[in-house]
Amino acid sequence: MLLILKNFKTKIPTVTSFASMSSTGSFRKSHSYNNRRPHSSQQSNSNNNPNKQISASLKSPYPIIDIGANINKANYKHDLDRVLDRSLEANVTNIIITGTDMKNSGLAVRICQDNKSKVKLYCTVGVHPHYSKDFNDDTINLMRGIIKKHPNIVKSVGECGLDFNRNYSPQDIQIQSFDKQVALAVELNLPLFLHEREAHQDLITVLQKHYVDGKLPVKAVIHCFTGTKDEAKYYIEQGYYIGFTGVICQEQRGRTLREVIKDVVPIERIMIETDCPFMFPDNKYRDEFNGRNEPCLLPAVSKTIATCKGLSEEEVAKTLTANTLKFFNLE
Ligand SMILES: [Zn+2]
Repeated sequence: MLLILKNFKTKIPTVTSFASMSSTGSFRKSHSYNNRRPHSSQQSNSNNNPNKQISASLKSPYPIIDIGANINKANYKHDLDRVLDRSLEANVTNIIITGTDMKNSGLAVRICQDNKSKVKLYCTVGVHPHYSKDFNDDTINLMRGIIKKHPNIVKSVGECGLDFNRNYSPQDIQIQSFDKQVALAVELNLPLFLHEREAHQDLITVLQKHYVDGKLPVKAVIHCFTGTKDEAKYYIEQGYYIGFTGVICQEQRGRTLREVIKDVVPIERIMIETDCPFMFPDNKYRDEFNGRNEPCLLPAVSKTIATCKGLSEEEVAKTLTANTLKFFNLE
């Protein structure tokens, strides 16, 4: 059985938002996030997915929240309204857009402001470790300004952290940029949306600089977790949350992560995300979605978590949503 999605004819203002994105403070002039793939080498093209049909089996039995969607990327600028319609059809009712530099953090805010869909949109504001080399003394002030101006939209500092896998920015620069963003999150009492690749120990070292009475004074989620059992265990002990993507659904790549979910991470510390346009839950969707993942595929992630935990999909969805509302202080 298929759900036939409506072909919306009205343009929504998000198209305008993309067109005017350069007017928001930009520290990066050269490279584009569009050309970088923080987590995978999956191809995503800019073709639309008009009139896409999604399987009814993908619909979540309870409203769920995508905590990390890069729908502020150019890939979505022509059909974001339809992407959000599909999200709603799949019962993904809230989306937190990921800011990865000043330019697309500003764009994320504007997409949220202009949102006319029934999907609730929020965002993070931050500088991804790949772009740390563009981080300068003014960046934190700009971040602080955007966050303070939009308290109902910006719900987290990030995506920030360390990526010693790709090393697009020098490691010492990554550490400095990350350290300042952690300090800002503590100052503003906002949760951290963290990225870590092959930098587990260094990430902890930076975070521990900000501990008060043995713990981080703000909440933190390790988004798109792909680490080991021991790393997950340590993060849980420190009180952090773990964000899982569609990778956990993949037969081979997801095997270890499914064990991590089963054995190490309590359901109360799990949140879910697509990290779209990356991280398909299954290659079978790749052609169907023109190589571009979307929030409507998020139910595949909660379904896999339900299987790992031996719980019903509805029970899992309810818990994940409750975790997320509390973590990001959403309504
Ligand atoms: Zn990331």
